[in-house]
Amino acid sequence: MKRMMVAANWKMNTQSSSASQLAGQLAGSWPETHVDVDVLACPPFPYLIPVQDQLGDSGVKLGAQDVYWEKPGAFTGQVAVEMLLDVGCQYVILGHSERRHVLGETDEDIRRKLVAARAGGLQVILCVGELLSERERGEMESILERQLSGGLDGVDENTVHGVVIAYEPVWAIGTGVTASPEQADQAHACIRDHLTDRYGGEVGASTRILYGGSVKPDNALALLQQPNVDGALVGGASLSVDQFRPIIDAAVVVAES
Ligand code: PEP
Repeated sequence: MKRMMVAANWKMNTQSSSASQLAGQLAGSWPETHVDVDVLACPPFPYLIPVQDQLGDSGVKLGAQDVYWEKPGAFTGQVAVEMLLDVGCQYVILGHSERRHVLGETDEDIRRKLVAARAGGLQVILCVGELLSERERGEMESILERQLSGGLDGVDENTVHGVVIAYEPVWAIGTGVTASPEQADQAHACIRDHLTDRYGGEVGASTRILYGGSVKPDNALALLQQPNVDGALVGGASLSVDQFRPIIDAAVVVAES
């Protein structure tokens, strides 16, 4: 039996009323901690507090979409680990492709954020994934290797225990094009091999690897049933409980099978 995770990345969407409403609906549809599936909501920074108020002690955990590596101080516009913990975050998403490719974040930036987040006690969802051009050139494996080596450089076995990896092929994010279950499983197996080489078999086998990229109610089960897929990071479909809840249900089916 594997423990699954379904994480909602709301990106730069919602407003205070719609964020609270969505969180309230989600908490209502997932009222208590389910032993085998972690459900996570990652709203924009300004809505972390109202969302947490709505989530209350439901089974839905709170995550942020980014964090800065420095301690609180003179860093205009940044948000510290301590602040995320203060408002109830347990997780932070790092290295999302939109931050890598739109905002120019480097592997070194991501590594510094990851180290700071783990030192403060936040769990990390580290996103990796190749561009379409890189896949077409046969570079998927080397890109994953580079992003994992860069993001985890100097990260020891204890620290990596609080890290979830999300494989998000950039060509599948927000495009409606999904990796086939076989493509997803193949990429996840590469990631698992990398973790095994780096940290040994226990970490390789136990680290959760989520798939992200146009996950919808109609493709979730086939993706989640793959042996190396331990959950989903969901963008567009997480903005409606009608779309998101069936993805959670698919994870429950797999976790209990
Ligand atoms: C994401 O933002 O991480 C994502 C996977 O988006 P979407 O589900 O919309 O492709």
